[in-house]
Amino acid sequence: MPRRFANRPAGAVWGQCPVYEWFSLCPHSLLPTVFSQPTAQLHPALDEPVHTKAKPEIHQDTEVELHPLVLGGRGKGRQEVEIEDVPENDGGERLQPEIRPSLHTLRSPSIYNDTAMAAFGLKLSSEVKYLKGVGPARAEMLASRGILTVEDLLYYTPFRYEDRTRLARIRDLVPGQAATVLAKVLTSGLMRTRKKGTYIYDLACTDSSGMLRCKWFHAIYLERNKVFRPGQQVFFYGKVERDQYGTGNLQMIQPQFEILPEAEQGGESLEVNRVVPIYEGIGALSSRVLRRLIAAALPVATESLPDHLPASVRRKNRLVDRGPALRETHFPDAKAPMEELANFRTPAQIRLIFEELFSVGAGLALKRRKAKAASGIEFKISDSVREAIKKILPFHPTAAQKRVLKEIADDMRSPRPMNRLLQGDVGSGKTIIAVQAALIAMESGYQVVLMAPTEILATQHYLYIKSLLAPLAYKTDLLISARKAAEKAELKRQIAQGDINLVVGTHALIEGDVQFARLGLVVIDEQHRFGVMQRFKLIRKGPTPDVLVMTATPIPRTLALTLYGDLDFSVIDELPPNRTPIETRLVEDADRERAFEFIRAKVKVGQQAYVVYPVIEEGGKLDLKPAVRMYEHLSSNVYPEFKVGLLHGRLASEEKEGVMQRFKRGEVQILVSTTVVEVGVDVPNASVMLIEHAERFGLSQLHQLRGRIGRGSAKSFCLLLAEEPRNEIAEQRLRTMVDTTDGFAISEIDLKLRGPGEFFGTRQWGIPAFRIANLLRDQEILEWAKREASEFVERPASREEFEAFVGYLREHWPRRYGLAQVA
Ligand code: ADP
Ligand code: MG
Repeated sequence: MPRRFANRPAGAVWGQCPVYEWFSLCPHSLLPTVFSQPTAQLHPALDEPVHTKAKPEIHQDTEVELHPLVLGGRGKGRQEVEIEDVPENDGGERLQPEIRPSLHTLRSPSIYNDTAMAAFGLKLSSEVKYLKGVGPARAEMLASRGILTVEDLLYYTPFRYEDRTRLARIRDLVPGQAATVLAKVLTSGLMRTRKKGTYIYDLACTDSSGMLRCKWFHAIYLERNKVFRPGQQVFFYGKVERDQYGTGNLQMIQPQFEILPEAEQGGESLEVNRVVPIYEGIGALSSRVLRRLIAAALPVATESLPDHLPASVRRKNRLVDRGPALRETHFPDAKAPMEELANFRTPAQIRLIFEELFSVGAGLALKRRKAKAASGIEFKISDSVREAIKKILPFHPTAAQKRVLKEIADDMRSPRPMNRLLQGDVGSGKTIIAVQAALIAMESGYQVVLMAPTEILATQHYLYIKSLLAPLAYKTDLLISARKAAEKAELKRQIAQGDINLVVGTHALIEGDVQFARLGLVVIDEQHRFGVMQRFKLIRKGPTPDVLVMTATPIPRTLALTLYGDLDFSVIDELPPNRTPIETRLVEDADRERAFEFIRAKVKVGQQAYVVYPVIEEGGKLDLKPAVRMYEHLSSNVYPEFKVGLLHGRLASEEKEGVMQRFKRGEVQILVSTTVVEVGVDVPNASVMLIEHAERFGLSQLHQLRGRIGRGSAKSFCLLLAEEPRNEIAEQRLRTMVDTTDGFAISEIDLKLRGPGEFFGTRQWGIPAFRIANLLRDQEILEWAKREASEFVERPASREEFEAFVGYLREHWPRRYGLAQVA
């Protein structure tokens, strides 16, 4: 598997589970009837244990990144790798020259008439394997992205377009500008840089007007797959730069590319002399292959293609019909202005974006309507609750904490189920809010469950809550898989009998034999760490529990409000008092000794430090060796005088727990760790964090990691140790970290750098992975479509139209998003 997909979360198949995730972030009854839900029928692939779903240690940015040239819904940051050697015997029919004529005449309208459609014998609902050029192997690759039918394929839209009617000549390239050139490969190969373990793939090419070099960092796959050969004609697209170090030659760093097959060089085709759609590759299916498959499927997109968008909505909003919209989005008319195309603002593109956002908006509106009708527990907030809270509060809550608690309390005493997302930056004090909500539930005689993503975090919460609740008579316990079988069995018995009031735990809580007598409140900490099914299963352990999900991953507020129309939001936008701001410094690798000395000085005066090391995924496996070597080096060579500990995800639970406890007690002064410390760990005496290979981490991950320090009274320092070469995006991430500690500012920048496709992955938010819409780019269309959707749900033009559209949602959304089994 090419490296570029290394960070796709398991189970987060594009276009499959996301909507499910999104519809069920919140509990039980909120799914509209359309998406009705009994557990037994859910997609088995979604139903994974936490350790495969939310791999705790995969850091996000091992992969090579590209220039931020395109903010496509999916395409940004992806590389189109043209892998020519797809096995010939994949069982499928290869695209043979004889079918070319039909591809060539694609733009002539005659091909879209019904005869042509009949001739191809294809329907929207036909499986892709019936398409010419798709055999079982390719069908499987397509299926990995949720593309099962011709319709799915037609909705696999380009993420950008290249105007190959006007190719730039190398001689005319201007540094600083992006361009497409068609050039012949001269030489290419992998080079090792002076830095250990860093490779650059270097290619030289020419187009008779001049010479250009192309470079890709760490691109071992280019060598391994023998992607380039001398003499090939290749399109390169990227930002042009002048090589600062060497010759002053022109170069492109990490350009996207497309190799022109020999048979086609010079000839008329889908790839030259026209505006060419560029698709994100799927496995070994390159953009070029996808372009051909889509061209073969396009005859289905006739004028008479049934349009599910309600006619009244189409008319009112002057939207293009579906068939032409699909055709023009894939193979735009030569007259379509490039700028509009690039901004996804041609009428055809607008229609498809609107369609998608309208459907989501309508789904939300239906769901909201249903939520209003659901009934939940009316908790009583009496003086005894106030007394209890007063007894346990260890500090004065901040104004933000008070406000948020009131919002939660109001939900809890209302007769409908609470369904609230509590967002607050790292260290803003969410835990105490959860404890107060728990008290409200327990005072009314209900049980509470709190689920955390790791054993370390669950244990920490348990110990903290237990000590807080000590003055009261409630029973609290901890359910994690590491405990002895007999203890667990006994604990489960007590939970089922209602003897335990508050259970803290990990995903061990969702096992079938954990049953509650009277579950009233479910709290899920760091909700983005869990898969949908895990949240869902926990919530279903009570008939209608209130639900509070907490997260430290800030989402830009406008987007949040638009997308979570149905989820209530609380934000803690204030840090507890007396925090000294963390100072963050960028340290070049050459200065690492000084960084070590800095840590030594802090530890000498009684403070503690984290040294975080990224875990690299190699061939699907996590490689812990570098982190372990670092630990050995630090403990025996650098800090022989201190106690150094090692923490990583592969340690047995007791070992992890032991190390954490020793660190908490100050017996371990320096903790070398992988990103397992990322969530929630609270050791106020730790005031320094050194992050190795900081250039490899994602922004929000860096922010989460840094949140482990700055929790005590000593001024804290975060040292980002970074290696060269770094690309521009890595550079911006590091600069952002140095410049700000504001989680919301960081999330906005993160969103811009990654593009929403990555940012809003299932892991973080469970917002649907849109097929063409892009939340950054399409904010206006989003608002517009949302308005129209609410209007349509509340006041449809006719009963028939309403039912037809809801029928369409019922039929298509579940299947398209992997919910085939849900009736
Ligand atoms: P997070 O929101 O990241 O989960 P925590 O709940 O772990 O944050 O709180 C971070 C630290 O701040 C804890 O040590 C907690 O005891 C402390 N804290 C929370 N609220 C306050 C407050 N109002 N005043 C003082 N300290 C607080
Ligand atoms: Mg927390």
